[in-house]
Amino acid sequence: MRWRGGRRSGNIEDRRGMAPVAGGIGVGGVVLALTGYFVFGISPQDTLSVVNSAGAPAQAVGERGIPDDEGGQFVDVIETSSADVWTQVFAERGQRYEPPAAVVLYDQATGTGCGSGQAAMGPFYCPADRKVYLDLSFWQELSGRFGAEGEAARAYVIAHEIGHHVQNLTGQMRRVDAMGRQGAESGAVRLELQADCYAGVWAARADEVSGGAVALGPDDIAQGLGAAAAVGDDTLQRQSRGRVVPDAFTHGSSEQRMRWFRVGAETGDPQACDTFSAGRL
Ligand SMILES: [Zn+2]
Repeated sequence: MRWRGGRRSGNIEDRRGMAPVAGGIGVGGVVLALTGYFVFGISPQDTLSVVNSAGAPAQAVGERGIPDDEGGQFVDVIETSSADVWTQVFAERGQRYEPPAAVVLYDQATGTGCGSGQAAMGPFYCPADRKVYLDLSFWQELSGRFGAEGEAARAYVIAHEIGHHVQNLTGQMRRVDAMGRQGAESGAVRLELQADCYAGVWAARADEVSGGAVALGPDDIAQGLGAAAAVGDDTLQRQSRGRVVPDAFTHGSSEQRMRWFRVGAETGDPQACDTFSAGRL
């Protein structure tokens, strides 16, 4: 994947190395589980360990700007590239795209507008403060626990969370409440599959919008598809419970997540991502 010459806007809030501010109460994790938007479903065991962990940190404010380490720069380039792509998409409809308030880099735990952010939950988007939260140690988990290697797999995760921000801007996020938060046909699954499709839209348009500075080749798209498959509900349920329970789906199956990412990547058209009206999810 090509990204090193990509534009950097510095829409990063760096809280790494900051001690979480003490205070708040331990149920923050539960609040977050209800209001944050994640890249994969959290198993009951994970939620329990989050609730049992030491008290929720209050919101900290990190340093803003362009990180000087490679891991931070990668996130900056992908966020900036996504902003360029979505600015183009919105402009095609005579609308203005507003990027997330920041991508927050943190270690282990941090306060968010949605409750306590815990690295165990994986990357997530908080609609209340319009920030994406990312502990870069997740990349090790992504390649180890989930078996999804490579920069394009990571870029897919970031682009998925940015997709949630787009859904927040367009109002699609509000449709979830009416359509249910759990189950194979639920609004939650439709929202997540749409975010996967939006990640594909970014992947399709990044090359042209960046003048070739940020580009995904066929192998990179395959890597993104591998990551989408790795965080499918059925795959994760098989690993954690030993069986598949579609009634407990929140993100869609591996096959669905790959298919919707591919729809976005092949069309570059967010209109093709209407999972809320799709007859077949
Ligand atoms: Zn998500």
